[in-house]
Amino acid sequence: MTPASAVTPSDDRCPVCHAPTPAETQLWTLRSHHRTSEGEVEYCVGGCGCLVILVNGEMIKSLSVDRR
Ligand SMILES: [Zn+2]
Repeated sequence: MTPASAVTPSDDRCPVCHAPTPAETQLWTLRSHHRTSEGEVEYCVGGCGCLVILVNGEMIKSLSVDRR
């Protein structure tokens, strides 16, 4: 088991807003994580600013960020 410090979608497009992500911003940054009775919950922010919430490594919620 690797620590869930890096969520790296194999695709080079954001799974949330489908914006092509430049290589240097491709990595998803783990903002925070905590354990709940449901399992491990993680919040990751993509290079495009989207937020995804994962439980036990599965994306359960995604929020695209309105960038102006
Ligand atoms: Zn996005």
